[in-house]
Amino acid sequence: MDDHEIADADGQVEATSNEEERRAHHAAALMLVRQYPDPVLRIAADRVEEVDGDVKRLVERMSDVMRQAHGVGLAAPQLGILRRILVYRVAADGEIRVLINPELRERSEETESDAEGCLSLLGGDLQVPVERHLRVVVAAVDADGSEIEVDAEGLEARVIQHEIDHLDGVLIVDRAAKDDRKTALRDLRLRA
Ligand SMILES: [Zn+2]
Repeated sequence: MDDHEIADADGQVEATSNEEERRAHHAAALMLVRQYPDPVLRIAADRVEEVDGDVKRLVERMSDVMRQAHGVGLAAPQLGILRRILVYRVAADGEIRVLINPELRERSEETESDAEGCLSLLGGDLQVPVERHLRVVVAAVDADGSEIEVDAEGLEARVIQHEIDHLDGVLIVDRAAKDDRKTALRDLRLRA
């Protein structure tokens, strides 16, 4: 539900213009996200040597684009920048987490298949079932340059695995089962 939705008549007018504004922001944000089959999405990103001003500004930009595009995660290559940086948030208004040079330290044996979308595949409109580890432990550096470790499960673990894949040039179509991949690639051929 949209938080601008208001029941009374005057509110409705406002809700409509806010909705239009929201859509415009959404469309503008998506314009900044590289779309399949852009080759940059297929190139492995480079490690970040130092969390300097450039990296911090990039993190801010990535967070803004993710928020306005209504994404749960975004990796730097999706903005055409080949650096190992990702941002994510598991709740719509939740805190944004930043992982720089993330490395998977542990993966649960248990996996789970669930539908995933990607802002770079038809702007998020394509859904593909992807099998992911239920729980992962990731070592990374945060936006202050401090070493952190994240122990994540469920949606958070899924988003982290999806975004780390982007840093390696891997997309959800590569992770899908054979038949799902065929269907997805056909949709992409027709619509991308
Ligand atoms: Zn993605």
